[in-house]
Formats: sequence, C-alpha cells, structure tokens
Amino acid sequence: MPYFNFSYKNGFVLLNNTDITRFIPCYFFKNEHNDRSHALFQIATTTFAALYSFIMLPEFDNTEIAFKYRSDKELKRARFLFSSMGSPVLTSIGMKMTSLAISWNLPVKGLIRHTLFDQFCGGETMDEAAKTAAVIGKYGVDTILDYGVEGKESEEDFDTAVPEFIKAIEYAAKNKNIPFISIKITGFAHFALLEKIHAETLLTEEENAAWKRVFLRIDRICKAAADNKIMVLVDAEESWIQKPVDDLADAMMDRYNKTRAVVYNTFQMYRHDRLVFLKESYEFARSKGFILGAKLVRGAYMEKERNRAAEKGYPSPIQPNKEATDKDYNDAVLFCLQHLDDLALFVGTHNEESNLLAAVYMHEHHIPAGTDRVHFSQLYGMSDNISFNLAHAGYNVAKYLPYGPVKDVLPYLMRRAQENTSVAGQTGRELMLISREIARRKV
Ligand SMILES: Cc1cc2nc3c(=O)[nH]c(=O)nc-3n(C[C@H](O)[C@H](O)[C@H](O)COP(=O)(O)OP(=O)(O)OC[C@H]3O[C@@H](n4cnc5c(N)ncnc54)[C@H](O)[C@@H]3O)c2cc1C
Repeated sequence: MPYFNFSYKNGFVLLNNTDITRFIPCYFFKNEHNDRSHALFQIATTTFAALYSFIMLPEFDNTEIAFKYRSDKELKRARFLFSSMGSPVLTSIGMKMTSLAISWNLPVKGLIRHTLFDQFCGGETMDEAAKTAAVIGKYGVDTILDYGVEGKESEEDFDTAVPEFIKAIEYAAKNKNIPFISIKITGFAHFALLEKIHAETLLTEEENAAWKRVFLRIDRICKAAADNKIMVLVDAEESWIQKPVDDLADAMMDRYNKTRAVVYNTFQMYRHDRLVFLKESYEFARSKGFILGAKLVRGAYMEKERNRAAEKGYPSPIQPNKEATDKDYNDAVLFCLQHLDDLALFVGTHNEESNLLAAVYMHEHHIPAGTDRVHFSQLYGMSDNISFNLAHAGYNVAKYLPYGPVKDVLPYLMRRAQENTSVAGQTGRELMLISREIARRKV
C-alpha cells in the first residue's frame, strides 16, 4: 500500500506528503498524454510507491535530524549511559549504590546530575526546564512540563503541589513551545484512599472530606489550564487505583473539554480491558457532549501488576503477551483517528511501528499533520529518532520533560535506568543510532 499520493507534472513525479512535497525527476515520461508513456508512468509510480514505503519505514533512522540538538559531548555521554544501562548487573549495582549514597547524604548529586539527570530531565527548576524546552523547540519539538517530584505523602505536600503546578501552567502559557503539563493523581491524594475508592469500600467521613479535597486540587489545576489554554495529561497508574483516576479525569473533561481538549485521560493498552474501556469512554463523552482527550500508552507497571495478581490470586489485568498489547495499542490508535470529530489523540509511545501507523493513516486520510487533534510524544532523552523526524515532517510532537530537585526525581531516573535494561531492543536501538551519529559527525 503506497504511503504517498503521486501525481505527474512538468516531467516530475510529485509525492504529495501533507507537509513535505518531494520532487523526483522522472524525465522518461515527459508526455503525459501518450498512452504508452502513461502506462510506463503508472508502473514506475507503483514501483516507486512500493519502494518508497519500504524506504519510509527506516525514515526514523535519520540521525542527523534526530540528534541535531545534541552537542558532540552530550552524544558521547548518551553513548556511555546507554551502553552502561545495557548491562542489567551494572545498572542494578549502580541503582543500589546511588540509593545508599543518597540515604547516607554522600555528595553524589553532581555525579547524578551530569549523567542520568541531564540525559532524562530538563533541569532542577522551571527556568532550567524552559531553557531545555527552547533548545528542542528550535527543531519543532514541543515540551510537556512534568514536575517529576514523587513519593510525597502528606496533605500538606498535596496542597503545596497545587500552586507549583499552576505556576507551571502560567509559565507554559508564556512559552510557545510548552502546550502541555502532566499530572499524577498520586501527587495529590493518598494511595490508600485511591485504593479504597477503587475497591468501592465505604469511606469514613474523614476520607470523604479528603477525597473532596483531591477533587478541588485537580479542579484548580484543570481550570488554570483551561484559562491559560494549556493542556493537562492525567497519567495512568496501577490498576488497583485507576478507577478513581479515570472518574476524576472524566469529571474534569466534562467541565473543561466542551469546545477543545484541555484534559486527557491515559489508556494503558497492556491491560486487556482497555480497548473496550476506550470505546466506552468515547461513547460517554459523546453522551455528555465533551471531547474525549485520549492519551494512549502501553503501560509501565507490568511486572508489578503481574506479581500482585499472582500474590493475591486474581486474574492478571495484563495482556497474555506483547503481541496482544501491540494489537490493542494499534487498534486503539486507529479507533481514535477514525473518531477525531469528538476526540483528541495523544500517541505516547517509543514504538516505531505504532508511530508510523498513526502518521501513515493521517497522511492517507488527509488529516493534516499539524492538526491540534493529534499529538505524538516520547520521553525526553529517549527515541529522539522518532520525535525529531516526525516533527521534521510536520507532525505535532512533544517530549515529556521532567524537572525538579535531583533527589526528588530519583525514582523517575531509576525507572528510566531499569526500563533501558529490560527493553533490550530499545536500548540497542538507541545505542546504535547514537553511535552512528557520532561516526557520521567525524566524517
Ligand atoms: C509520552 C509517554 C507518556 C507515558 N505515560 C505513561 C502513563 O501515564 N502511565 C503508564 O503506565 N506509562 C506511561 N508511559 C510508559 C509506557 O506505558 C511504556 O512503558 C513505554 O513507553 C514502553 O512502551 P512503548 O509503547 O514505548 O514501546 P514498546 O517497547 O513497543 O513496548 C514495551 C511495552 O509493551 C508492554 N509489554 C512488554 N512485554 C509484554 C508482554 N510480555 N505482555 C504484555 N505486554 C507487554 C509493556 O507495556 C512495555 O512497557 C508513557 C510513555 C510515553 C512515551
């Protein structure tokens, strides 16, 4: 199936991509009214289409575009990091030593800051993050401000987080490259409370009051986002707290998504019930007259989910295998793209095939690459080959950019280190692309 429309003009075959129009000299077929040359033209373009679609797949391999924003020094650091993380033993030892060093107050901040932190985070403050946002913004890649502080558990912490996020929204509103912020409901609510609501356990009066406070915190953030024309991504978390997260996201979308998508809920397609849930959420949004913001991910807590299900003796919520997750993810992408009238899609993945599927579908169905109904996203420091090449072709792309004090974003950094050992293929791919770019620059 060709990925591009072809036409013939002035001795050129025109490939009509939505944003890039490429001219391929085709001097053999000058006379378009001559039947024989027209037939030859048809054969040539069909062959070309087949070849081009083949060539198009590794288009994400353009390392010059992918890493233009990185200096030679940064690339060498990335190569060192990804090759170290590729060894599960080294990573595991490194993670344990880092946690110990932090708990013993040893001076390791500088070391973390100049390695993992600089690779995966935007900075310690919003100003630093904005500088990083401006760098990637030069290449057409937007930013999702992600206040990466985790592990706070008191009502006071939850309250103080709200103005921090509102500050981020107001800051984002002044920066044209920052259209999104992301939030985790566990940053504003006790995990145990969410667990109780999920399990439909009767709440005490105090718990009911606490839940109302959570609602108000999230509402203040979403209202500020709506007022400032910024979008809010509500991250998905563990399945045993997800029901109240979904309900809150629905309530916020009902309030703020009447004319445009301000709030997005997250759908983890590694769960076997989520494709159905996505379709139900869409029907619910239509019945209430709001636009469904659908952020699609595969899901980050697979081992934890499976282990808990086995321990507690209930059926695992996770798909039986990777293929099933991939199938539901891609089906969800297509479902969303087919319903863009009442839905805004956020494709959150490092998977090349899923990104390409969405881009190709958009092209074939004449959905403009720059439509505000579709965004692509990858994490900062990972899969630049996808982000920057998609942006180069005119698609909306935004990087998740965590920021915050080094010790507070440590859990996030540990997850990235862990992820880059377990996703062997991904680490190998990053390393190969980075090494190739370093070699290319030497030539
Ligand atoms: C922008 C962005 C935002 C994100 N936000 C969230 C979020 O809010 N909540 C969240 O949970 N995660 C989130 N993630 C992480 C995401 O869920 C994935 O863990 C990560 O992106 C890897 O999946 P992939 O689609 O990028 O790539 P791939 O490498 O193609 O897929 C890896 C993923 O496939 C699934 N998988 C792997 N093996 C199996 C198996 N044997 N059986 C079933 N499934 C399997 C797992 O989900 C695994 O993470 C986000 C990721 C991005 C890029």
